[in-house]
Amino acid sequence: MGGAVRCRDHYDVVVVGAGAAGVAAAAAVGAGSASLSVALIESTHRLGGAVTAAMHRSLCGLYSDKPRGPLDTLNAGMQRNVVSRMVERSPQAVAPRQMGKTWVLQFPGGVYEAALEDVLDRPGIDRLMGCQVREVGRTDGRISNVRVEGATNCQLEIRVVIDCTGGGAILRMCGEPVALASPPADRMLGGYSVRVGEIEGDLELLPVQVPYVLTRAVSDGKLPTEARFTMFQPGPDPGTGVFKLAVHPEHSQKDAELFATAVMDHLNTTFPLLPTHARLRLHPAPWLATD
Ligand SMILES: Cc1cc2nc3c(=O)[nH]c(=O)nc-3n(C[C@H](O)[C@H](O)[C@H](O)COP(=O)(O)OP(=O)(O)OC[C@H]3O[C@@H](n4cnc5c(N)ncnc54)[C@H](O)[C@@H]3O)c2cc1C
Repeated sequence: MGGAVRCRDHYDVVVVGAGAAGVAAAAAVGAGSASLSVALIESTHRLGGAVTAAMHRSLCGLYSDKPRGPLDTLNAGMQRNVVSRMVERSPQAVAPRQMGKTWVLQFPGGVYEAALEDVLDRPGIDRLMGCQVREVGRTDGRISNVRVEGATNCQLEIRVVIDCTGGGAILRMCGEPVALASPPADRMLGGYSVRVGEIEGDLELLPVQVPYVLTRAVSDGKLPTEARFTMFQPGPDPGTGVFKLAVHPEHSQKDAELFATAVMDHLNTTFPLLPTHARLRLHPAPWLATD
């Protein structure tokens, strides 16, 4: 067994994917029986899946109505456990907020990921970060091993695998048909992030100015409708920030890049404070479907 990540040859339970579902599954199995060996395998180096990767700052689906406080969640158990650790980490800034007709939990950057770290902080769960499950092997119709590549390259013998990949990746590897929850026509917009450096001027104004300018461009027929969902967030270093663009679910990687370029070109002409387009680096969010 090679690589920087240490792991066993055999696990009772392997959870694939360290988003909300995977962290909850690994922690629940670990809490349920200390004698079980558990591995959590994640292809990136961070916990939180799409929520972390796409820099979400609010969690949906926790409240059915106006909550009495952040812990007034629909479900107890893991859901309330994560929220309570978020509140412990940042009591002032983690708070329910109304968005349209729904209530979401607003939180500052880093808090969700840190809360998931706390939830997983128990013995008996090996974390294989930066490792991707590439193949599954079956014996007598059941999955008996998985091949892992990345920070470590190995073959793990397993008793149970839990697919928390967000898109049924393990089921697909088994050749099983995987149906998406909604038909293609009903799918939500996907995301695309453009990180920018060397911005001059007042970055605090851009979160307000960007949607305004782009909504006008859409009304004038200069950009497609989804351009008006673009958001700007100032980055951690001076002069840096991220533009979060919403792209049509049927967009290919190429279409998304063309769309991002059109939006950034429009912003460049409108705001002389942005750097020249040549300095832009495009980073597609990892969960963006590409063909
Ligand atoms: C455009 C968009 C916007 C959204 N906005 C919000 C929002 O603002 N607030 C909110 O609460 N929710 C939002 N959601 C929903 C939220 O992202 C999901 O509900 C949540 O991420 C689902 O968690 P998950 O653990 O099931 O999957 P994911 O978060 O997708 O995690 C799956 C993990 O599995 C890993 N993985 C996949 N394949 C493998 C493999 N073969 N080997 C190892 N690891 C693998 C991935 O790297 C990933 O970390 C949004 C979703 C979308 C698409």
